[in-house]
Amino acid sequence: MRIDLHTHSTASDGTDSPAGVVRGAAEAGLSVVALTDHDTTAGWSEAVAALPAGVALVRGMEMSCTGRGEDGRPVAVHLLAYLFDPTNDAFARERERLRDERTVRLRAMAERMAAEGLPIDPDAVMAAAGPAAGRPHPARALVEAGVVGSVNEAFADLLRTGGRYYVHKEDTPLPEAVRMVAEAGGVSVLAHPRASSRGRLMDMNQIGELVADGLGGVEVVHHDHGAADQRILRGIAADLDLIVTGSSDFHGSNKSVVLGEFVTDPEQYDRIVASATGVDVVTGVDVVAG
Ligand code: AMP
Ligand code: ZN
Ligand code: FE
Ligand code: FE
Repeated sequence: MRIDLHTHSTASDGTDSPAGVVRGAAEAGLSVVALTDHDTTAGWSEAVAALPAGVALVRGMEMSCTGRGEDGRPVAVHLLAYLFDPTNDAFARERERLRDERTVRLRAMAERMAAEGLPIDPDAVMAAAGPAAGRPHPARALVEAGVVGSVNEAFADLLRTGGRYYVHKEDTPLPEAVRMVAEAGGVSVLAHPRASSRGRLMDMNQIGELVADGLGGVEVVHHDHGAADQRILRGIAADLDLIVTGSSDFHGSNKSVVLGEFVTDPEQYDRIVASATGVDVVTGVDVVAG
């Protein structure tokens, strides 16, 4: 039983459609896949409709949050949310606010690039990006324009946090986000909490504080975590009795990682399903003709 609980589609900044992600999951031999686009549930219905037989879909999302850094200053933190009720009003409104922040900030980034003479058309970037626009969208435009050789290279310099074209967006305070997910019947899991390549780390002490807000788990196995990071996170999870996950964080061709490259233990997955009350896991069945 192979379980991958963190993937992105064209509903946010992945390059495969939601249908493509669930078909890819079947091809990769996964039994369970979670679709976790940034700040949106827009890909859910297409993924359900296209779900191949033998694959279970966990409907999820990766929420943009602001945590407390090791240095005490605010830091970007991602929160995975699984099996929450998408009709919960407060949570739906917050997702919409986050997408608006994405749109305003990404247009500002693209316009700054154009103003400085880079061969970038802000309207084209925004049109290609859709409602959950992220930095991988201008990154691809920069690759296509020949400014950089790869999406990775675009992030290393121009787009990285604090980099030349970086513009801030106002994300959800982490404790509030954890409470919103819980109130919508979902299970929250901190995404890649020690991904230091992205910038400063969050204060690991904040993880314990979030338990009172309803935090469910931590993503331990991830391509941005080294062996030492995983050891630290396993220790924290054991101390706090948190769920431990591992996942690919698949983004199609925007990243080199493949579906199922990192996976979650079935017992840990069972804990997520048992704690959720928002929506059910959907299982793909053979469509019988006639
Ligand atoms: P944003 O959500 O607009 O702040 O952009 C962050 C997104 O870019 C996250 O989904 C990351 O997975 C992705 N990302 C960050 N660094 C890289 C990189 N070096 N290459 C490709 N994608 C990246
Ligand atoms: Zn992403
Ligand atoms: Fe993330
Ligand atoms: Fe992600």
